[in-house]
Amino acid sequence: MAVEMTNWNNWCGLTQVTPNEITTPTSASELAEAIAQAASSGRRMKMPGTGHSFTSIAASDDILVRSQGLQGVIGVDPDNLTVTARAGTRLKDLNSGLERLGYSLHNMGDIAEQTIAGATSTGTHGTGGVAAGLSAQIAGLEIVTGTGEILQCDATQNADVFDIARVGLGALGILTSLTFKVEPLFTLQAHEQPMSWDEVTQNFDQYADENNHFEFYYWPHTNSCQAKFNNRTLDAPEPLSKVRSKIDDDLLSNNLFGALVKVGSLAPRSIPAINRICGKALSERTYSDVPWKVFTSPRLVRFREMEYAVPREVGIEALTEAKKLIDRSGWRIGFPIEVRHAPADDIPLSSAAGRDTVYLAFHVPMDTDHREYFGGVEAIMRDYDGRPHWGKLHTRTAADLAPAYPRWDDFLAMRERLDPQRVFTNDYLETVLGQ
Ligand SMILES: Cc1cc2nc3c(=O)[nH]c(=O)nc-3n(C[C@H](O)[C@H](O)[C@H](O)COP(=O)(O)OP(=O)(O)OC[C@H]3O[C@@H](n4cnc5c(N)ncnc54)[C@H](O)[C@@H]3O)c2cc1C
Repeated sequence: MAVEMTNWNNWCGLTQVTPNEITTPTSASELAEAIAQAASSGRRMKMPGTGHSFTSIAASDDILVRSQGLQGVIGVDPDNLTVTARAGTRLKDLNSGLERLGYSLHNMGDIAEQTIAGATSTGTHGTGGVAAGLSAQIAGLEIVTGTGEILQCDATQNADVFDIARVGLGALGILTSLTFKVEPLFTLQAHEQPMSWDEVTQNFDQYADENNHFEFYYWPHTNSCQAKFNNRTLDAPEPLSKVRSKIDDDLLSNNLFGALVKVGSLAPRSIPAINRICGKALSERTYSDVPWKVFTSPRLVRFREMEYAVPREVGIEALTEAKKLIDRSGWRIGFPIEVRHAPADDIPLSSAAGRDTVYLAFHVPMDTDHREYFGGVEAIMRDYDGRPHWGKLHTRTAADLAPAYPRWDDFLAMRERLDPQRVFTNDYLETVLGQ
């Protein structure tokens, strides 16, 4: 097992740490030995994924366990329609491996850079479908606990651990492999079109119910939204030309958008006009491809993000309150607000646990102080019984998170059982879960 020292920072740059030690185990048994040693000497240990969480959830200042020694797709089980991969496998590698074998995940978030363990540990989700979260697509997992025990978990063995560890926040153990349910590869057709605020908010429920995967972006200070309807099709894929794809992605999230964000940062008063241009410049388009290439796209402009999950029935009302706050605040918000939804799932610390959900995601450029904007909106989200994304910025603590999750105590009891010495804790986990 290689041991080295270096600095670690997350994608948005808000968390930087210098761990005492970095180690790269290549098997569950090697990892189990390292964890048992850390526990017996009172040390702390943490495996980050690719650091795409905006919070410091993945920060390790003692022993950082690199995920690079635990990568690769292990195999597909065609009878049970599952795929098993090592925990440090990146979503893009899982997806391209599945595509080659003729399979697909059911749903995905916006990017495919993260590790499968990192993404599931914070409840990463897409929009719509029968399962929006990646964790709700897990069929089995292998975890090494804080006492160095290796547990195989699924609906029949260690079912109580499986139930809770699907969204584990990195607090229960280190995952070494994950098994996901898969489907035979299908084609997803994307239809994207500009819409007015009134049209999209008044018809949100209908669009969410009638399409496989619906979401929209709202441009603050304007009346403009960009709606995305993704539906399964039996027609042959018709991907966008590379040029068209690049032009639109550049406008919504990459190079051209990055240049406009810079102009907005230098001259905040220009932001409403820039947003109006962005809202109008995105035109209608339809294309189709294998699902993960429709769900995900590169994000070259770095930003900070807060995302809240609110009960679906108050989602648009909560968004409207946030819009009103932005309109009367004098803030200049240069990033669109992303609106998605999810069916209820049964995972104790999933943000969609037990309730149909609307997700509202707020962004600022990477170097912008987010606190006033996110703080103002967060107060509204609390009023609507909102639950923060574990990997995105928020100011909630264990005391006020506990009432938001009906099975909070089950999670804490599992943490006590699997990590009694808190080998896997860090400052973030102490804030959100307690000591
Ligand atoms: C550009 C961008 C786009 C995003 N889009 C979406 C989106 O569409 N939907 C969404 O829901 N979120 C989204 N996110 C958030 C992101 O998916 C989550 O923050 C995710 O957790 C990041 O995965 P990671 O591999 O970088 O993990 P990290 O952020 O490095 O770690 C997250 C947690 O996972 C734990 N962990 C990692 N590996 C293991 C392991 N083997 N065993 C146990 N615990 C482990 C870490 O210790 C930590 O607690 C986005 C983030 C960015 C920066």
